Amino acid sequence: MRGRDVKHISLTLLASLFGGGKGSHALDETTWQAVMGLPLFDGLLAAEQVRLRELATQLLADKAFSGAGGIEVDDGMATAIAAFAVLPVLNIGYDWYEGWREIVVYPGEFIHDGEHMDEAGIVHHVRDVRSGEAMQGGPMVLSWEDVEHSGQGEGFNVVIHEFAHKLDMMNGDANGRPPLHSGMVPADWAREFQSAYDDLCRRVDGGEDTVIDPYATESPAEFFAVLSEYFFEAPELLQLGCPAVYGLLASFYRQDPLVRRRSI
Ligand SMILES: [Zn+2]
Repeated sequence: MRGRDVKHISLTLLASLFGGGKGSHALDETTWQAVMGLPLFDGLLAAEQVRLRELATQLLADKAFSGAGGIEVDDGMATAIAAFAVLPVLNIGYDWYEGWREIVVYPGEFIHDGEHMDEAGIVHHVRDVRSGEAMQGGPMVLSWEDVEHSGQGEGFNVVIHEFAHKLDMMNGDANGRPPLHSGMVPADWAREFQSAYDDLCRRVDGGEDTVIDPYATESPAEFFAVLSEYFFEAPELLQLGCPAVYGLLASFYRQDPLVRRRSI
């Protein structure tokens, strides 16, 4: 399940986050080479690979990784996560990832135990299974098993998903609208994303077998995060299903994975 929430986390989990064994890691050369061979990175120019590596090295120095649930994060695991994480900021800069530090890695999906307040102000107890989680100004949690399934060019990447939430949170609660660059028109973003979101919700509600994972219909924030996964992992599917949104994501991330893929 792409069960990912962006706000709530239990005190039990918070307590476990600040256990021992966390720290910075060095880039592991063998892992780096292996990860660069994944479909996700197909078509990157040599200069882009150099920049990607510099950004990954920066992330490894900036973030503190810690293992939870009996797992220890080694340099190889941290390197793989860093490589996936920095692809979205390749052309917009590392600043977008500053202001928080902790990345917690579980061996597999983890239980989220928390509370959710509905529109009427009633607090509900929520318990579900997740593969990743990103908290505003706070830690990110990832399932290692899901990290291992990322990068295959099939539309799934838990690391890109959670970092997309972090980008979205740069201007407040995750709502599917990250801060846009100058020259981008917020009204265009709002209109095209809303229209594509409504369309996908309609199709999913109608029982249609959609190209995009139905998890994207959970909320506009999840829509942005899931579509960001497709943008990098399976750009041809996104371009086919939501061409207007593809163009806006290309403007936002300042890269065009579709052109990159076609170059190989
Ligand atoms: Zn999510």
